[in-house]
Amino acid sequence: MIYGKNINFLRIRRYSFAGATIFALRIMKRTVSIHPKKLHSIERKHPWIFSGAITSKTDAFEDGDLVALTDSKGTILARGHFQHATIAVRILNFGDKPIDHVFFKNRVSNAVQTRRNSDLFRDDNSICRIIHGEGDGLPGLIVDYYAGVAVVQCHSIGMYRELDKIVPALVSALGDDLIAVYSKSSETLPDRSDVEDGYLHGECETPHIALENGVKFNIDWITGQKTGFFIDQRENRLLLAKYAKGKKVLNTFCYSGGFSLLALQNGANLVHSLDSSKKAIELTDANIDLNGFTDQHKSIVADAMNYMKDLPEDYDIIVLDPPAFAKHRNKRHKAVQGYKRLNAHTIRQIKPGGIIFTFSCSQVVDKQLFTNTVIAAAIETGRNVRILEQLHQPMDHPISAFHPEGEYLKGLVIQVD
Ligand code: SAH
Repeated sequence: MIYGKNINFLRIRRYSFAGATIFALRIMKRTVSIHPKKLHSIERKHPWIFSGAITSKTDAFEDGDLVALTDSKGTILARGHFQHATIAVRILNFGDKPIDHVFFKNRVSNAVQTRRNSDLFRDDNSICRIIHGEGDGLPGLIVDYYAGVAVVQCHSIGMYRELDKIVPALVSALGDDLIAVYSKSSETLPDRSDVEDGYLHGECETPHIALENGVKFNIDWITGQKTGFFIDQRENRLLLAKYAKGKKVLNTFCYSGGFSLLALQNGANLVHSLDSSKKAIELTDANIDLNGFTDQHKSIVADAMNYMKDLPEDYDIIVLDPPAFAKHRNKRHKAVQGYKRLNAHTIRQIKPGGIIFTFSCSQVVDKQLFTNTVIAAAIETGRNVRILEQLHQPMDHPISAFHPEGEYLKGLVIQVD
């Protein structure tokens, strides 16, 4: 049996014949009628329906119900997961098509094949994101892959309830490349007492070693942040590696040391890694030891903003990769001020010719706003700044053309003369 002893995680219900009939009738009745003026969103294949677009009563629905979306004549236009929230429905498929095992098998295998086409499953690279929510046509679902282990994070209870279809789809798409599937949704669905974490297929000890572009990382999906690693910086770390040969690098907000390790792998002289979390620094130290770079590395537990205000040493390259300063639109202004302050301190302090890799992963601060903020910081310091490179999220974090909200990671490489 695929799920072994963990089959209870999936809410498998048993129905009597009468029960099954009632259940079937409930499914048939689960339709949501969309206001005629809001149909354009479905026509444009945007995967979200906001609560204000719904004209029918939704009192009888439970969070996570699979619903059909109809126009006023009752024609089914799409199907998706319902929840009592601002985003009321996350659309899985357009048209009148079933959301069943075949649907999940096709979407998951398509997502895995897209990564294979981009050569992300290699002997020297065994870390990638295999499902990125809306970008892979599976809103509410994240699956990260670490050398044989798929770590699943559901952002909607509807998607969590589909795990009985998602896990076999992963087994089928990954074949011999799969050892285990671990479900970690209790932190993304904190209000649900029915959500449990655990293995849904196989098992694997943690920390588990996986490779990013030839560098070894200890990954612990059980105790680590998110699914255990920040996969989205892979290409940007590789770019840092190109600049880092013979250089002294400061990697702030380092978490498990991804940028530090890629810089050292490519011949950086010395790397300092800084994080305010002692646990993050312990992860970094373990990864530095794992790759044999202990002599060229120093760890610093400190607040990055304070450290940058009065930089005690000269660095050739500084990486600024803070957590999202704004998670909601109403925090955008404050976030922009935070990015401006952090970048201004760094631009002011770095030595002439120094290079800064600066990032924002706040979805509500778009590329243009972030660039303008860094420019404003440069103007404030009075120093001459050039933008050398413009960075973004990698191909395994795809953005649906119909869901521009999926773009969240942006960065700049700037040189301060
Ligand atoms: N650059 C990392 C990911 C950064 S995640 C990578 O490539 O893997 C953000 C990190 O910032 C977390 O590890 C968090 O502990 C740290 N952090 C949050 N606030 C901080 C602060 N004020 N000063 C320093 N580090 C901070």
